[in-house]
Amino acid sequence: MIHQLQSFLAVGIQCHGFTDRMSGDMRSLEARSAVLDQLGIPAGSFVQAEQVHGASVAVVSSADGSTTVKGVDGLITTSRNLTLAIRVADCVPVLLYDASKSVVGALHAGWRGITGGIIERGLEAFRTLGFASGQLRVGLGPAIGQCCYEVGGEVAELLALRSPGCLTSRSGRDFADLRGAVRYILLEHGVPFSSISSVDVCTSCRQDDLYSWRREHEKAGRIMGFIALP
Ligand SMILES: [Zn+2]
Repeated sequence: MIHQLQSFLAVGIQCHGFTDRMSGDMRSLEARSAVLDQLGIPAGSFVQAEQVHGASVAVVSSADGSTTVKGVDGLITTSRNLTLAIRVADCVPVLLYDASKSVVGALHAGWRGITGGIIERGLEAFRTLGFASGQLRVGLGPAIGQCCYEVGGEVAELLALRSPGCLTSRSGRDFADLRGAVRYILLEHGVPFSSISSVDVCTSCRQDDLYSWRREHEKAGRIMGFIALP
């Protein structure tokens, strides 16, 4: 099953979503091709980010179809029918579009990306294309929840610096809310609260449905977040 956002479907962003465990590990070409076939997405109009836990975002066009863009963790396009994809296991997959449906984006936001500025860089890229944060609609996909994401040391410090309030303590241990941190940064930069929706499931709790790096380590597959303009 593909997890989708009702708010995106309601305005005609049909081609978007987050794959699940049943769909397989999205690093595998075979599993990915099966999903693309099922969704009717031609391989030639599908583009992925390499993902290096950085904060770079690339603006891509149909010429980038069937490639993997090196060194970036986010993709943005104004090209129609070009599907942007990122892969995650615990990190937050972030999908964006603007209210006039002229541009879409996909960002990979783990703690490194979040504290390194991937959300800000993504919003900046939208701005350079002429779209203000206030015009954006954002969907956050399945990610590790505060129930399971224990953090310590530098990770806890950096996250707390970037998003005060994203940590809670239980029995002397700190737990981070990655989706909450992304939401905080979006709000801080003028994305309206009502424009942010999410699939609120925890990748670590839902091992029947999703992959979790924290729970499965090297054995963890990846789900895929994807979006295309109609
Ligand atoms: Zn959990």
